[in-house]
Amino acid sequence: SADTIQTDVVIIGAGPTGLFAAFQCGMLKLRCVLVDALDEIGGQCAALYPEKPIYDIPACPAIEGGQLIEQLDAQIRPFDVPRLLGRRVTTLSGHRGDFTLGTDKGDTLKARAVILAVGAGAFGPNRPPLDDLAAYEATGGVQYYVRRRADFTDKALVIAGGGDSALDWALSLRDVAKKIYLVHRRDKFRAAPESLSQLEEAVARGEIEKIVPYQLKALHGEGGQLSGVEVATLAGESRVLEADHLLAFFGLATDLGPLAQWGMDQIRSTVPVTPSTCETSLPGVFAIGDVATYPGKLKLILQGFSEAAMAAHAIYPIVNPEQALHFEYSTSQGVPSSK
Ligand code: FAD
Repeated sequence: SADTIQTDVVIIGAGPTGLFAAFQCGMLKLRCVLVDALDEIGGQCAALYPEKPIYDIPACPAIEGGQLIEQLDAQIRPFDVPRLLGRRVTTLSGHRGDFTLGTDKGDTLKARAVILAVGAGAFGPNRPPLDDLAAYEATGGVQYYVRRRADFTDKALVIAGGGDSALDWALSLRDVAKKIYLVHRRDKFRAAPESLSQLEEAVARGEIEKIVPYQLKALHGEGGQLSGVEVATLAGESRVLEADHLLAFFGLATDLGPLAQWGMDQIRSTVPVTPSTCETSLPGVFAIGDVATYPGKLKLILQGFSEAAMAAHAIYPIVNPEQALHFEYSTSQGVPSSK
């Protein structure tokens, strides 16, 4: 149902950096609300790679995407941050200290400052141009993410794409799937050297069959039930691969969508920020995580965490103009007891 909410900070995007921004706001006693277009929190980690281990989170030798989000969720629980999920923020008006935001579900949010933690913005895979695609997507015949490896137990899979995702999933799913075809339009894959050598070993052992240089041509089946994927060379030579699922990994579409109309400076799908505060060219609107850019930016979760802290500290005087912020360590301050 549509809500009207008054708060200090609206955080748009509940990916890893938006979640950690909620923690940083909580520590500074700034009230905040998280809004995300997806139905669950976690951004790319939850939607794209919940079961993949991440190795470069400080103090975690390995943590799966989904586990990282569970931990971030647990960390903000004491602050009881309201979440508006399944809603895209579409409009922004007002100025530093007094913003009004609207969502596509009709909610109105009033806030003193805004944090954009929107990642690549409108979230979606690049889809192959195939007839009847929507019908096959609806049944799960065609998929773009691997949510649970177990879903592919004893299935015949066509995995399409030439980058890290296609290769990683082909290698990972070979233990569970009955058959894996790896389709790419070129003979060369662009992936980490270690994955490339693992692929060659898997091909030699017959665990993965490379279908190169072929492109997707058509889906075969009835009523959205996939039975095969037709592939063709540029010369027009085609063949049909029997398959239960097509997993297509052609990258993510990056589109800031409605945010592009808000008047901020942009460089393609990113928003330049002042590195010391993460403020954008719109005063009072901050950007952190994948969407934020400045010289030396690394699109890594760990950098997004630090940006979340900088943005929250820069927002404090907007919400508390009369009050100096006395910096405290979390160790001396503690967190409120969980409800
Ligand atoms: P995202 O995680 O992209 O979340 C943004 C959220 O904003 C989304 O949930 C989206 O729905 C929401 N949103 C966007 N626009 C709106 C709107 N208008 N209204 C409401 N909600 C909106 N990083 C590492 O550091 N280490 C790794 O090992 C690593 N491995 C990776 C492996 C894979 C396969 C992928 C795909 C990425 C990997 N990354 C890794 C990158 C990492 O996941 C991203 O850097 C990180 O997710 C960025 O977090 P974020 O919070 O900025 O944005």
